[in-house]
Amino acid sequence: MKLLISERGRILLGVLGLAVSFHLKGLPVLFLTAALMIFVGYPVFLDALRGILRRDLLDEKFLMTVASLGAFLLGEYVEGVGVLLFFTVGEYFEHRAVARSRGSIRALMDIRPDSATVLRFGEELRVDADEVAVGETIVLVAGERIPVDCRVLSGDALVDTSAVSGESIPVRASCGRELLSGCVILDGRLTAEAIAEADDSAAARILELVEEASDNKAKQEAFITKFSRVYTPLVVGFAALFGGVLPLILALCGVGEVGALYLEYGKRALTFLVVSCPCALVISVPLSFFGGIGGAASAGILFKGGNRLSAIAHPTVVAMDKTGTLTKGEFSLLSLSPACGVEQEYLLWAAAMAEQGSRHPIALALRRAYTGEKPLSPPDALHEYAGRGVVAEFAGRAFLVGNRALLTENGVALPDSAEGTVLVAEEGRYLGALTLGDAVRPEAKEAISRLRALGVRRFVMLTGDSPAHAEGVAHALGFDECFAALLPEGKYAHVEALSEHESLLFVGDGMNDAPVLARADVGVAMGGIGSDAAIEAADAVILSDDLLHLPQAVRIARKTLRIAQENIVFALVVKLATLALIASGVFSNMWFAVFADVGVAVIAILNAMRAMHTPRSKPCLEGETNG
Ligand code: ADP
Ligand code: MG
Repeated sequence: MKLLISERGRILLGVLGLAVSFHLKGLPVLFLTAALMIFVGYPVFLDALRGILRRDLLDEKFLMTVASLGAFLLGEYVEGVGVLLFFTVGEYFEHRAVARSRGSIRALMDIRPDSATVLRFGEELRVDADEVAVGETIVLVAGERIPVDCRVLSGDALVDTSAVSGESIPVRASCGRELLSGCVILDGRLTAEAIAEADDSAAARILELVEEASDNKAKQEAFITKFSRVYTPLVVGFAALFGGVLPLILALCGVGEVGALYLEYGKRALTFLVVSCPCALVISVPLSFFGGIGGAASAGILFKGGNRLSAIAHPTVVAMDKTGTLTKGEFSLLSLSPACGVEQEYLLWAAAMAEQGSRHPIALALRRAYTGEKPLSPPDALHEYAGRGVVAEFAGRAFLVGNRALLTENGVALPDSAEGTVLVAEEGRYLGALTLGDAVRPEAKEAISRLRALGVRRFVMLTGDSPAHAEGVAHALGFDECFAALLPEGKYAHVEALSEHESLLFVGDGMNDAPVLARADVGVAMGGIGSDAAIEAADAVILSDDLLHLPQAVRIARKTLRIAQENIVFALVVKLATLALIASGVFSNMWFAVFADVGVAVIAILNAMRAMHTPRSKPCLEGETNG
């Protein structure tokens, strides 16, 4: 229901009205405060009524209604208005805080573009983004949001990738560059080939993750929900005894006159009700996590829920995949070693043809490297084995492209000289090997030393690549251990052993990493290069593939947890102290209760909002990485 007066309007009205009422006496006070009760409190009363109709008696609106109306009926007119006024102030702060942290998440929500310009039969047509098929040519102009993941065919443009990656510096895109949907063209004009449908593109994937995030509550959040389910009825029951039964007993014992006792203890019981509202906890703890997730999202790190965020706060071991995670996954072909009697071009054709269905970085490089005359027609059947390679059938012949394990498992006899990044076989006969090179990410070393500074004791590399290559990279980056030539099940076994006694953070990108990402205490996937399976299985995703986001994610998680804990302790201590003071009669004034309650809520909310401001990571300077 649309409310007639805004929260801010009601607060102003309430403050003004109360200021005036302090200068009045007698009946005018009664009339003025009665009017204020209605003006300031009607949304609260209406919600309480709805709560009663839903049989949800113990919600905070109900508590506030009973407390304020009770105070009014007991003759404490100004206090009655005060309760409502301060409650409204608390709500105002809550709504503002929620709106702000929603804002950064909504910025991500906005990235889904709805239309695209495609080139069909030489004409530019405007269609729904959903209608763009893989392989179609799309036209991108300045100001446009990229509708589907695509590869640039021609043109030159400046692209703002911040919505997808959190990177604030625009990148220049020209022929061959892959662009993710959701990014915005700043200037220039491009034609590009769609490489994914809208539903499989980056923007849609990110949105799904964001939606998933709100369902996963952190331990602390779940605790609060359970806590308030016990706490509120307990305090309300106590208040009922205090205000309803105790005066009668005291009167029977001859302590005083029944009416006076009821008035005195009734007031205390109402004050109790005000304090019994667990608003500060109920609002501020989930808000802290919400803020942390929102803040991380605006920095390009997507957490799939509060529980995932808290899981990454204190890793003691970090295990990382190599290809695509520590390296860029932009392979280039370095050398070909065909077996005796095999032509180089045929070897490369076989590899490129078999890899047509794969999105593995090696597959992309092999397809790019092939420039021969024999056309690359798609194979008749294809199967990709994660962490091993591909098996393709072409013109009735079986081709194998992958590592040593793939070939030997399929009965290919390998000569001793067979050495390379991938080996190729046709119909059980070894065709040769191809060696590909990949560059280490420039920020990898810095990211590792920052994680070490944050308390990670051990770094382990788990890779499917050959030991010779992997060990060089592991040593250069300062890893403590390196396990190479691992098949997916090998990675899994290592991760299982590692996470037995330690808190394990695993970072990976490939299909072969998906089981491990799910098994580790916390799994982080590379969002740009990462396979769908990895992104799906991970607890968090680094959208821009920048490894420096790892230490940043740890810091965001720590800050968020700290804030949530501060709020829990602060609110509990103040509440319990207030209850004790009221019960013992040191303070029975309702103002005191209102201040304690709303004050705590507002302070806790403001504190929770700090979680939204992410500790920014320092950029990795050239040269710093070598140090
Ligand atoms: P990691 O990321 O752990 O290093 P990879 O995904 O690169 O593991 O796979 C390990 C090895 O398996 C590669 O070095 C390569 O030999 C082989 N492999 C995996 N997928 C493919 C593929 N699509 N084509 C060729 N070889 C592959
Ligand atoms: Mg990998």
